[in-house]
Amino acid sequence: FAPWDDPNEKPLIRFENVTKRFGDFVAIDDLSLSIYESEFFALLGPSGCGKTTMMRMLAGFENPSAGKIELAGKNIAGIPPNKRAVNMMFQSYALFPHLSVWENIAFGLKRGDMSKADIAARVEEMLKLTRLTKFAKRKPHQISGGQRQRVALARSLAKAPKLLLLDEPLGALDKKLRQDTQFELMDIQESTGTTFVIVTHDQEEAMTVASRVAVMDEGQIIQVATPGGIYEAPNSVYVADFIGDVNIISGTVKAAGENMYHLDWVANEAPLLAASERPFSDGQEAHLAIRPEKIAISTEKPTEMKNAVQGTVLDIAYLGNLSTYHVQLAGGQVIKAQTANTRRLSRRTITWEDKVWISWSATAGVLLER
Ligand code: ATP
Repeated sequence: FAPWDDPNEKPLIRFENVTKRFGDFVAIDDLSLSIYESEFFALLGPSGCGKTTMMRMLAGFENPSAGKIELAGKNIAGIPPNKRAVNMMFQSYALFPHLSVWENIAFGLKRGDMSKADIAARVEEMLKLTRLTKFAKRKPHQISGGQRQRVALARSLAKAPKLLLLDEPLGALDKKLRQDTQFELMDIQESTGTTFVIVTHDQEEAMTVASRVAVMDEGQIIQVATPGGIYEAPNSVYVADFIGDVNIISGTVKAAGENMYHLDWVANEAPLLAASERPFSDGQEAHLAIRPEKIAISTEKPTEMKNAVQGTVLDIAYLGNLSTYHVQLAGGQVIKAQTANTRRLSRRTITWEDKVWISWSATAGVLLER
């Protein structure tokens, strides 16, 4: 079992020490992972880390070079794609242009042994699920991009697969529609109970839709956790940096009481104070990861915060609901501090080149080994 596997959950999919080589290139490197029944699981990672290779092995387009993949407790090696209870929805949707929405959804069912009446009932059910009943007679070019996406989803779910693989399912939609469709996708996943595995380049999307997220790098899994777990408790600088915005403060640590450490850092005369349940030894190098919204900014030295450092405002990014300040410290490092613009701005209290204090509590960040 991997450290993040929950022995109480029933895995629908198990990767056991799976390696995939292309020639002498290792695309997936001794990877173990469980994906549970009825969960919405996301694979995240930079281009080339092996996400698509994982999906292709699940779908049956590739076989592992070593290790095994189980679906519902059975090794799926050698089972052809069309014999697996797995379906893959591609970004291009691959709808048949000359067939109606109804016929597109029915297409895969007609090749099975269902009766005409059962096929019709199933198509109607899928149309209802994806709110496409009104559009049943139209051809793909007579409906919107969002509706086409729903036809592709309805078609992928028509045969009631145990597992649906979604490769950039919303990639063709514009931002607003994409956000609305994310919620639809979550609703449909929940009402069908089908296990969904999604690959997306949009980290916010993965964090929105998925119940758990795996962060990958070079064919390996670095961390698997809930979106909140990944964001609030990353296990490495790599994960902290991959998801959202983060400040990394590196230095050497020294114990300062139970679960408390001092961090020596060039930008500050006094050592910083950081809480950590992960143990460190004196003199060990460590990295404190702090999200910009956990850092306060003020013109006066704060009295109640454990860590306060002086700096100069380099830039301010006004984002409407938020403002992000870039503050340069002695030694040159730039720290990002973000505040919510909850009150209407009548005047800018902090502006460029102001001398300011940035501050945070001992529990605001996560102390990391690597
Ligand atoms: P992206 O986000 O860009 O789609 P990815 O994480 O999905 O990337 P994969 O497509 O799984 O990455 O590829 C992983 C690595 O394996 C890449 O370095 C890729 O070049 C390599 N690779 C994938 N398929 C083959 C193949 N058929 N032959 C040789 N190398 C391959």
